[in-house]
Amino acid sequence: MIYPILTVEIRFEQDIVLARQRARQIANLLRFDIQEQTRIATAVSEVARNAFNYAGKGKVEFTIQGQFPQVFVTRISDSSEGIANLQTNFLNGMALVAARRLMDEVLVESSLGRGTGVQLIKLFPKHATSLSKAQLNQIVDQLVRLPKDTFAEVQQQNQELLQTLEELQKRQEELVQLNQELEDTNRGVIALYAELNDKAESLKRASELKSRFLSNMSHEFRTPLNAILSLSDMLLNHLDGDLTAEQEKQVTFIRKSAASLTELVNDLLDLAKVEAGKVDVRVSAFEVTDLFSALRGMLRPLLTNNAVALIFEETNDMPTLKTDEGKVSQIMRNFISNALKYTEQGEVRVSAKRGENQTVIFSVTDTGIGIAPENQNRIFEEFVQVDHPLQKRVKGTGLGLPLCKKIAELLGGSVELQSTLGIGSTFSVTLPIVYHNFELAIWDGVSSNNGEDEDNNMAKSQSQNIKYSSENLKKILIIDDEEVSRYTIKSWLADLPCTAIEAIDGYQGLYRARIEQPQAILLDLLMPGLTGFTVLDQLKSDAATSAIPVIIVSSKRLEAEEYQQLVAKAVAIISKESNSRENAIAQLREALNQAGLNF
Ligand code: ADP
Repeated sequence: MIYPILTVEIRFEQDIVLARQRARQIANLLRFDIQEQTRIATAVSEVARNAFNYAGKGKVEFTIQGQFPQVFVTRISDSSEGIANLQTNFLNGMALVAARRLMDEVLVESSLGRGTGVQLIKLFPKHATSLSKAQLNQIVDQLVRLPKDTFAEVQQQNQELLQTLEELQKRQEELVQLNQELEDTNRGVIALYAELNDKAESLKRASELKSRFLSNMSHEFRTPLNAILSLSDMLLNHLDGDLTAEQEKQVTFIRKSAASLTELVNDLLDLAKVEAGKVDVRVSAFEVTDLFSALRGMLRPLLTNNAVALIFEETNDMPTLKTDEGKVSQIMRNFISNALKYTEQGEVRVSAKRGENQTVIFSVTDTGIGIAPENQNRIFEEFVQVDHPLQKRVKGTGLGLPLCKKIAELLGGSVELQSTLGIGSTFSVTLPIVYHNFELAIWDGVSSNNGEDEDNNMAKSQSQNIKYSSENLKKILIIDDEEVSRYTIKSWLADLPCTAIEAIDGYQGLYRARIEQPQAILLDLLMPGLTGFTVLDQLKSDAATSAIPVIIVSSKRLEAEEYQQLVAKAVAIISKESNSRENAIAQLREALNQAGLNF
């Protein structure tokens, strides 16, 4: 349905103003609000001016169309030749661009020879009810009675302009104020960032300090602990005579306590090092079967409860892994020893399978006490242990799982836990088959012992208590500032065909090496004055001593560069923290053999 309201012919320029006035009056009678009235009036006058400019004359027809919804349609047409290039000349012209912004819809028809028509469409306000024919007639009546006063319209337009200017001014002021506020906020944010930076910096410093403290303290702890371990080993080996049964018991307790303290100190140091990003990833290629059989060997001593079976599942179709075997083994050892600790009956099952995206998933499932949901995340935090009667009977530090998590992340993987209280737990670690961050990795091709494969060597070693005749004893120089260390190393050498000479610091070591020409030198690293690193450099650069093989014997945990620096010049690196006397002797024998002493 089309209901015509009014038509305005455009012949002279003032007719455009008239069309504008009529548009406003009609919009008012149709109950559009003041702003909408201005929008409609402006669109109509802009397009009408277009018709006047292009064609010299035209027609503006105001209509109401449709029943529900009703729309207000103003058609402005001219009978010019039509617009030859509608796209560029007209559609993009200012008038239509403005009309499109002001109206709900703008339709343009133009064809050559038939003139141009533009329909400006405005939907009725949402809450308005449809107007009946009688109401529309009434509107037309009212309209006819309204004055056709172009002067008043121009005045109104001027007023609107002034109002708009005022509004613009107000907006401008608001913008200035907003800008000011934004600037203040910005300044605040910058200050906050600076403060955050400061905080982050001091947190970083505190964390570094903590790591440094832990690593220094751990080292300080380890030296006396090693001494206690070695000395109690000597006593238990009856090197200086038999002990009474009671003494034997007491020394065993001393050894056990020192061993568990060493474990705590090592865990703390490992954690501090991973946190400080100071752990090297040593990549090598290895098979899951070999990893499992090594784990089986290492963990056998923990199988003290006959009611629990430790089962390693078949590892069919597993790819060769290229990652840090020592660290994977460390995670698994932790999982398995926990599982054995917290399982009184049933089994601990170790398995491996392929995961998504070139990963492998190792799992340790137990039939133990299980972990309540609220504790499942907590146990990966440092020093958290769950309250349980069994907990009191097993020993632990609460550092194992946090360390596992950190190591797994270091290798580009993650740990997961599924557990039901009273039923059992499955701890899993997902790791990339190939460690990716190769720039940080060290390829493990060096045969020197850096103290990490102690467990493997333990299996190879055999205790020997043969005494040798003095003629073919090899002269070995021990350079170490710690008396207890020299004493311990001497006791190791006593099991080999050697005679030991000693130097209490680097200076003495250098000149004794030159004068006495020993067959090998056992060198400590951390010494006051000349460190072992300097001594090694000097020994190697002096023609008189450069040919003497040097074996590093130290409890210093080595950084990657230090390790590289040492293996370039030393025959082997032995950790003072060998977990047993036999192990230490076996390592020493192997190193001396490597040095060409042929034991
Ligand atoms: P801990 O040296 O005490 O074993 P961990 O960090 O390895 O330290 O483990 C933290 C705690 O998580 C343990 O004290 C124990 O309460 C709980 N837990 C770890 N493994 C298991 C398991 N397999 N079954 C039940 N509880 C476990």
